[in-house]
Amino acid sequence: MYLKRIEIYGFKSFADRIELDFDRGITAVVGPNGSGKSNIADAIKWVLGEQKIKSLRGSKMEDVIFAGTIARKPLGYAEVTLVLDNSQGVLALEYDEISVTRRLYRSGESEYLINKTPCRLKDIQELFADTGLGKEGYSIIGQGKIDSIVSSNPQDIRHLFDEAAGIVKFKNRKQESERK
Ligand code: ATP
Ligand code: MG
Repeated sequence: MYLKRIEIYGFKSFADRIELDFDRGITAVVGPNGSGKSNIADAIKWVLGEQKIKSLRGSKMEDVIFAGTIARKPLGYAEVTLVLDNSQGVLALEYDEISVTRRLYRSGESEYLINKTPCRLKDIQELFADTGLGKEGYSIIGQGKIDSIVSSNPQDIRHLFDEAAGIVKFKNRKQESERK
């Protein structure tokens, strides 16, 4: 599984619709300070279901919508789509290519889509559970994250290994059944 394409419209500094195509292997995004490199990482986290606005570097969710500039009016909604290669069937859907979309309007209304079909946030979270890709995954290592991993306590490090091994799902179920 790999990220094939990302489409962004109205998210943070991206007022125009942009499409970035990625290939297998390594891709580097370079540019001057403030040009939007981290906004691309934020867009990926957001579409994977990130709900914590702090980790998207804002103070309220509306901050992810293009706020306008002197020359340009603010936009009414933000939309991000990830297109993932699934030819090896890592994600449990029978498609070789899977798209995931998140949309947020200024009114606060949200929309989530898998392969252009409306779904719930929960469906997106379940699709990525134990693949390492979800918002709790380790697929995005932000600035300072390495430091926090190296200096974290044994329980937190264990959790990271559990997620990588794909057993978090079972641990959660075990805990749930013990509570009953
Ligand atoms: P650095 O090299 O310093 O890390 P960067 O390329 O990662 O820079 P970003 O942090 O991605 O830069 O982009 C910051 C820019 O995005 C700022 O100019 C900021 O004004 C702009 N920005 C953030 N949110 C919005 C928004 N909602 N509307 C318009 N512009 C926004
Ligand atoms: Mg940055």
